[in-house]
Amino acid sequence: MKTRAALFHAVGQPLEVVEIDLAEPRPHEVVVRMAAVGICGTDLHQVKGEFRRPTPMVLGHEGAGVVEEVGDAVTRVRSGDDVVLSWAPSCGECAGCRRGRPATCRVLNAAIPNGTLPDGTTGMSYGGETVYRGTATGCLAERVVVSEQVALPLAGAVPSDQAALLGCAVLTGVGAVLYAAGVEPGASVLVIGGGGVGQFVVQGARIAGAATIVLCDPVEGRLDAARAQGATHVVGPDELRGLMRAELPDGADYGFDAVGYPATTETALRATREGGTAVIVGLPPQGERLDLDPFELIRKEKRLTGTLYGSEDPAVALPVMLEHVRAGRLDLASSLGPSFPLDEVNAAVETSLAGEAGRVLVVP
Ligand SMILES: [Zn+2]
Ligand SMILES: [Zn+2]
Repeated sequence: MKTRAALFHAVGQPLEVVEIDLAEPRPHEVVVRMAAVGICGTDLHQVKGEFRRPTPMVLGHEGAGVVEEVGDAVTRVRSGDDVVLSWAPSCGECAGCRRGRPATCRVLNAAIPNGTLPDGTTGMSYGGETVYRGTATGCLAERVVVSEQVALPLAGAVPSDQAALLGCAVLTGVGAVLYAAGVEPGASVLVIGGGGVGQFVVQGARIAGAATIVLCDPVEGRLDAARAQGATHVVGPDELRGLMRAELPDGADYGFDAVGYPATTETALRATREGGTAVIVGLPPQGERLDLDPFELIRKEKRLTGTLYGSEDPAVALPVMLEHVRAGRLDLASSLGPSFPLDEVNAAVETSLAGEAGRVLVVP
């Protein structure tokens, strides 16, 4: 089977849209015709050379589409179903999986940096050469073949452009608040970074009933979006210290770092109150290290933790998110940015790199 796909070759080189070969779906796999694919920070890390993963690679792991064909043993979806892709096809058998933490799956977390599916294959090639998969998915293409485990049915709940956001930004951001941190009503929350994920951390905090939600980002458009999405205070990095002193002098109950750079993690931890919890949600460039004062954790009894993909099984979390959408608590449309056809994928990447307030989508 063939599909057109956007290939990443090397840093500084534009993505190349070419026709690649896809292996036929195996018994438990499905073919998904992609309808919308978000450009996520993880894709940008690869484009900027901050992750070293094998190439050529089809980026894209935040996508929604329609099931076009199913393998013989597929039971969860049928042809014609609209689905959102989860990028966490976990093994189901390792210690993390057995404890109900599929995002921590050892097999998955070995596969992602290797650019493969959990079984070590990619099922993609170009001119006979292996093509690798971004974040165990590689859906920046017209079609992708994935396990039925990761093609989660939407049953018409949301349009495809909004559905794409569910696949990474929503599960990651809202999940960080509801599942990883367990923010309680009345809490105070600081969110560093108002990009795709940060906006959904803000919405998650509002859904959880947080009383004070401070969003910090240098991009003006993102501050406006966050205010509309439930932030009670928005502020640029230079004004954060002053705002915290005025509004939350003891620090925030929860400090979320939706960026992931060491400096932003240190800011989130420093701005968290004694006994509070700082949560790293964004991914740092490969190889970065934190420089921490242990007394923040000892004498001040702060907790510092991280979360991957919202720390919940995507198949469990997705119906919860869809219910929040149905009830009007979770707004997807306000996080949408401009859309580009697959042939203009490089314009999509440039727009995203420039700090666009909404999620930039490719509509293959
Ligand atoms: Zn992502
Ligand atoms: Zn596992």
